[in-house]
Amino acid sequence: MLKKEFKRKDVQRARNLIMGNSGASTSTQIGYKKETKDYKEGDIWTEGRKTWTIKNGIKQTVSKLDTIKKEVFMPLSCPCCGKIMKKRLDKPNYKIHKKCHDCVIEFEHKLKIKGEYDNYKKNLITKNSLDIVDEIESYLLDAINTSNSSFVSEDGVIEKWDGGIDKKEWSQKVKESAKVRREHLKKELNDKEGS
Ligand SMILES: [Zn+2]
Repeated sequence: MLKKEFKRKDVQRARNLIMGNSGASTSTQIGYKKETKDYKEGDIWTEGRKTWTIKNGIKQTVSKLDTIKKEVFMPLSCPCCGKIMKKRLDKPNYKIHKKCHDCVIEFEHKLKIKGEYDNYKKNLITKNSLDIVDEIESYLLDAINTSNSSFVSEDGVIEKWDGGIDKKEWSQKVKESAKVRREHLKKELNDKEGS
């Protein structure tokens, strides 16, 4: 039958043959041994000397998570006007501006009058990108340098690679690309503030 469909297994088998790996099991990936362990969102476990968890599909150390929690933690009342923050928009605004939605509106309104609003908004976005670069960098460095070289895929599965990556080289690459991105963003900030 010409219409015979190729299954993934067949494709893998073909690939193994091409790579001279004919004896390999079809579930083994080429190039490294892969063990998987299922951890899901919210699980907490110890690995090496650190305690880990998965939050939003990303593996991270618990201490780092605590810092994030503190950062996001919202006091009962607005530090700026003292009113109780209970409106829907108070939370996302507090996260970014450390004040309630009303205070942010007022602050931004004043900036608009002074003609400084556009610049302020652009800076806010750039600063947020800088935070993201920091976060991604430390996540990647953590992942690369974890004692047993484990990685978490997007669905929260930990993949252990035996002898798969050159930690030093990869760390260097991550640091370099983060540095380039960071410098670019900082330049953007300075240009705006200088103009
Ligand atoms: Zn307020």
